[in-house]
Amino acid sequence: MKCGVREVFKRLTEIGKKEAFIAWLACDTYQDFFPTLIATVLSQNTSDKAALKAFSNLVSRLDSLTPSALLRVPIDELKELIRPSGLLNSKANAIIESAKLFEDGTDWFVSMSCEDKRRTLIGIKGIGEKTADVVLLTCFGCRVFPSDTHIKRIFSRLSGRKMTYDTISQAVLDSDLSADELLMFHRKLITLGRAVCSSRNPKCSVCPLTDCCEYYASGSQGVDPSRGRRSQAD
Ligand code: SF4
Repeated sequence: MKCGVREVFKRLTEIGKKEAFIAWLACDTYQDFFPTLIATVLSQNTSDKAALKAFSNLVSRLDSLTPSALLRVPIDELKELIRPSGLLNSKANAIIESAKLFEDGTDWFVSMSCEDKRRTLIGIKGIGEKTADVVLLTCFGCRVFPSDTHIKRIFSRLSGRKMTYDTISQAVLDSDLSADELLMFHRKLITLGRAVCSSRNPKCSVCPLTDCCEYYASGSQGVDPSRGRRSQAD
């Protein structure tokens, strides 16, 4: 990339609102990783808005969002409650598997290293590295860097090549950003992706990264590395 990670971090000033990030909202509200894990599962492959609707349904139905309370909800009712977030079967199964794992308490998990926590979460069927990393970064301040579709698109455009979850993590974690800054960077990039560097017709004229961006430098005539085909930048 033309600009280093620290420079990109510095240029981006908007971190968005808490309400626009379901993991942020859940972790801040409950001060507990388990509701955050459930919220993040609900956000898989859908918008945070849709996930929030499903999460609110669960919160309204349950006295407390605990593993044992979730396990008392019949599976068909659980699927109905989370319907707004889509992928009902896989999300319901991931929620149930998570609840079973933590039914007898979470102290054993909380006391683990970040690496062991990550291994444990990824071991749950239906929970991948992104969901695990969102929880670990948001609730535990672990040195991980989750990338969503916005972050992959921005990094691919900045670097002029298709970047994957692993290559982005490597690049960001090789920087000197602290864990707190990693969390801010994650939110800043998603906010940029939602408001400015959109999939179609990115608003480059208001982007603070134009001189860092290979896609912008190509004059919008080349192949968009985030989409693998010709695309207009403006
Ligand atoms: S200059 Fe345009 S394509 Fe590059 S990061 Fe900014 S909005 Fe995205």
